[in-house]
Amino acid sequence: MAQPKLYQVEGVVLARRDFGEADRVVTVLTPVERVDLLAHGVRKTRSRKSGHLELFCTTQLLISRAKSSWDVVSQAEATTTRAALREDFNRGTYARYVAELVLRFFEGETGEPLYRLVEATLSLLEAEPHLERVVRWYEQQLLALAGFRPELDYCVGERDSEACGAALHPRPQDSQPYGFSPERGGALCPDCSYALRAERGVLLLSPSALSWLQGFQRRHYSELGDYEFPSRTQREVARVMERYIIHHLERRPAVLRLMGDHEVSATGSHVGDG
Ligand SMILES: [Zn+2]
Repeated sequence: MAQPKLYQVEGVVLARRDFGEADRVVTVLTPVERVDLLAHGVRKTRSRKSGHLELFCTTQLLISRAKSSWDVVSQAEATTTRAALREDFNRGTYARYVAELVLRFFEGETGEPLYRLVEATLSLLEAEPHLERVVRWYEQQLLALAGFRPELDYCVGERDSEACGAALHPRPQDSQPYGFSPERGGALCPDCSYALRAERGVLLLSPSALSWLQGFQRRHYSELGDYEFPSRTQREVARVMERYIIHHLERRPAVLRLMGDHEVSATGSHVGDG
């Protein structure tokens, strides 16, 4: 009989479920894929592996390839434990949301950019005071990697059957609200927002909310600066993105079947703890 092949990989634990009497199936995101792995005996109190396979840990894994079932974790050594995400309920809720979006938008092969994004976001959630800002930035980055980047630079509206395409430069002194259409896939200039106000799913968007969304999409988190993210704008951005994300997940049956009951609970109901 051929020996099982061993391979080594680094991964972040995104989900875990009990299996059998003492085993666990862990869902891990690595730089190349999202994969389910079987960890034998980790629910036994004396298991040496269990502390290294906690939710949100980054772990060095030695894995043995199995032909007919999940690959098996032979060794695990956590390099970043992120205990705060398991001990602090609020931070943990945001971290679960981060994991949930990966699990819903991605299956099988992924890539290094997604891995780096998830790693960076979980580390930010462990330390940052502005949790809402972190997840809103994360959503924009994740959607781009998933191929669902909303158009926020040019108006996606149309009037008299002509595409608008106006460049969007929101300013605080703008007197008319912008808009957002999940179905059209992005933001609307004030004129289109008004003209399409009766269209299905069209939402109003304040200049401040559009400006923040553009920032989240264009910049790395570290480049966002120390500007205050006003709570009113936080709620607005959260609501718009929740609609947009639900719109796309519902269109993708492969991901839809993974959806749970706690749909984006972290977007609307929790305002940052700082
Ligand atoms: Zn327009």
